[in-house]
Amino acid sequence: MFVTETLLKRNAERIDHLSKRTLTLTPALRALVLTCADHRVDPAHVLGLDLGEAVILGNPGGRVTPAVIQDLAVLAVIAMIEGLDPGFELIVVHHTDCGLSRLGGPEHAEMLARYFRVPAAEVPSKHVTDPWASVKADLEVLRANPLIPRTLIASGVVYDIKSGRAEVVCAPAPLGAKA
Ligand SMILES: [Zn+2]
Repeated sequence: MFVTETLLKRNAERIDHLSKRTLTLTPALRALVLTCADHRVDPAHVLGLDLGEAVILGNPGGRVTPAVIQDLAVLAVIAMIEGLDPGFELIVVHHTDCGLSRLGGPEHAEMLARYFRVPAAEVPSKHVTDPWASVKADLEVLRANPLIPRTLIASGVVYDIKSGRAEVVCAPAPLGAKA
């Protein structure tokens, strides 16, 4: 059996429950979580997020790449069309033992340069082997980008795969606030 069939079976078992939920386009916690695509850091499990509570964005490393900046810009326009008040919160979650850390060697610098769209010489400033440094670097990228509303509140969190503990590295603050 393909995994798709397994998952469709699981969905069928949930249809009754899901169809009774009335969820709005606005996430209940008015939050977005940017996290690694890693299967061990699913925010529904490690942060206890329930269905409808937060928008989840994922990529290798949970990084603020140019693609993520575009995603956030699109979501900001949707929020504007929906007439949502500003003050959404974005939680950037990086984690220990990240697969992206396996690309820390010079042989992968060109690929990471394309991923982050920076010159290869700037790849070390992305700190792919250090989640504490990388989450700080990504918050700086958000602050520096004019496409992202200044009213967005952003925080940086590191999740430790071994201990199961998440810790705040960059406290929540509006992007427009002085760092
Ligand atoms: Zn990861």
